[in-house]
Amino acid sequence: MGETAFPVSARAQATRFSSVAAVVAAAERLRAQGVDVIDLGAGEPDFATPEHIKAAAKRALDENFTKYTAASGILALREAICARAAEDFGARYDPAQCTVTVGGKQVIFNAVLALINPGDEVLLEQPCWVSFPEIVNFAEGRLVPVATEETDFHLTAEAVRRAITPRSKLLILNSPSNPTGRVIAPAEFSKIVEVAVEAGLWVISDECYVQLVYPPGAPFSAAALPEELRARTLIAGSLSKTYAMTGWRVGFALGPREWVGEVIKIQSQSTSNVTSIAQKAAVAALTGPQQAVGEMLAEYRRRRDYLVPALNEIPGIVCGEPEGAFYAFPDVRGLTRACGFENSKQLADALLNDYGVVLTAGSAFGGEGFLRLSYATSLGALEEGVARIRRMHLDRTS
Ligand code: PLP
Repeated sequence: MGETAFPVSARAQATRFSSVAAVVAAAERLRAQGVDVIDLGAGEPDFATPEHIKAAAKRALDENFTKYTAASGILALREAICARAAEDFGARYDPAQCTVTVGGKQVIFNAVLALINPGDEVLLEQPCWVSFPEIVNFAEGRLVPVATEETDFHLTAEAVRRAITPRSKLLILNSPSNPTGRVIAPAEFSKIVEVAVEAGLWVISDECYVQLVYPPGAPFSAAALPEELRARTLIAGSLSKTYAMTGWRVGFALGPREWVGEVIKIQSQSTSNVTSIAQKAAVAALTGPQQAVGEMLAEYRRRRDYLVPALNEIPGIVCGEPEGAFYAFPDVRGLTRACGFENSKQLADALLNDYGVVLTAGSAFGGEGFLRLSYATSLGALEEGVARIRRMHLDRTS
């Protein structure tokens, strides 16, 4: 019997598979063929989840904490999220302004769906994380890219002001940024939100990497903004990167009660609650010892301090210094030309297929001419990755 063509909905047709996930899948295929792959593509810590967090999950299992919870999450976890925002950023949120979600991604998805009507404009810095535009498209919002290349990928209040129109409804911020590793300085951050709020916009602050800021910078959250700005700002938080918990799928929203309420309502009709066991682990992560966070950050910094100068020594690469997160985002236009490629995707494909180096083309993030390299991997792997990029340059130019 012949297959009947599946009548894909317009909404699903308009949604693209994550290009980062596609890179991960391509790397898996090569590995399965026995290729010695250097993976600089993964957007996740290479560290194990700390022991005390895993112990809390095991305890939850043994105590049969294995049933549905409220869609918004258990009170102990919402209290722990609010307490951490108070301790780290001096912010006062009460648990009714908080909900627990399936990773930070679900906060953004639900929060955009809760706010955006077809045709509403959403301001988004460019380059940006691959899922932001997809989520806005899914909600039938109209994307308004705010270019940042001229300001070395730092979003400015002035650029936001210029992009605002009477149809603008939402601004999405992401500091530290995936893919650029740039951090918006606190004073500029406040100015940006001020400009947005004065114009009547709402703001989502994706703070998935908030704890991963390298000295002399320091973590800064929208939670620290004055009350009148926080009243229109929703924080999308996540335990994924901070505590090496990507697979546990725990994120949270902190923000205006009504907006959070809509996020919970959408979640109650889709994923319900975050896995009960993972919620108990998250309480341990947020209330337990925090030194693992500092240790991981110090290790990322060591790797960054190797990687950036090493990349800059390769002809045709110019790499700025990441201020946060664990991504380098070098300008590879010179290398691309010298090696005879037309764009960053061709360069990334050749590095993958001919040299076994997995990384992501900048075009996936709206940053053509750049590459994203994750340094959430061992120093040894970084050294080998750099050596292979250098080899490609030699092979193709000599
Ligand atoms: N926001 C940004 C900028 C990210 O890079 C990611 C993951 O890579 C997320 C949100 C979502 O992370 P999670 O859903 O694991 O919390």
